[in-house]
Amino acid sequence: MGEQSLSGTATSTGRDPGARPTGAEGKERADLRPAGFPGCLRCAYRSLDRPDVCVGCAVPEPDIPAGATCPVCEQATGPDGRCPNDWCARGDRWFSLVWTVAPHAGALRRAIAAYKYGQERTWAQVFGRLLVGYLDEHMPWFDDYDLLVGTPAYTGPGSRRGWDHVGAIVDVASRLSGPRWPFDRGAVVKCVETAAMSGLGLARRRSCAEGSLRQALAVPDPRRVAGLRVLVVDDVFTEGSTLREVARALTMAGAVEVAGIALARQPWRGTGHRTRATYRA
Ligand SMILES: [Zn+2]
Ligand SMILES: [Zn+2]
Repeated sequence: MGEQSLSGTATSTGRDPGARPTGAEGKERADLRPAGFPGCLRCAYRSLDRPDVCVGCAVPEPDIPAGATCPVCEQATGPDGRCPNDWCARGDRWFSLVWTVAPHAGALRRAIAAYKYGQERTWAQVFGRLLVGYLDEHMPWFDDYDLLVGTPAYTGPGSRRGWDHVGAIVDVASRLSGPRWPFDRGAVVKCVETAAMSGLGLARRRSCAEGSLRQALAVPDPRRVAGLRVLVVDDVFTEGSTLREVARALTMAGAVEVAGIALARQPWRGTGHRTRATYRA
């Protein structure tokens, strides 16, 4: 449905209300890359197939919070010196720590929304480049990881989105980096759909994660992760309930450490209830 050129795993359901025009014209249009971040006018990502060009475009200013930051999630700590996210102090969080490329704000936030909710799937090209650019730029931090996997999505019958938006980014990143970064799509999978987490309050997110998400995750072949240090890729890190479940599944299958890397970090919003519109703005 005009999307088939973007990912080898895309499923054509034919019932996507936001589908682009079909046929050769639609396919050609789908091959055009998005305009990119504001800085991309100068970075020439459309002519260079290099991973490093977009990092500066997505992160125009270094993401250095003014005060102390949490060693687990990089969020600014509160006046008491503690991270407001209590997962970070808990021994049962399953993941060791999480890196994020930039705050979930500005051009990056708009791009992620266009990608996930606006059907602008070619953003995977830019996000894959951003991910590899960040990994390359901070290579010593990630040198010891044996495997990079995407936070899995369910794409079978009855799936919410019908395509794996993190998987598409991982595919681009894998192609760009070659053997330099050991991406392995499919090491951890999601077997059934679960409720959308965005828009839910903290308590509800946690109960959904520990309930239906935990049941939905599987590691099909534990030998692929046993004894390894695994880095889990996601688009947005909110408070870690999803990463925690993926890390738990990988650890139960034998991984010795699981950490996270996300394109964007949602600024901490406490435990108050948020509407969907607030998250998706
Ligand atoms: Zn760029
Ligand atoms: Zn923290």
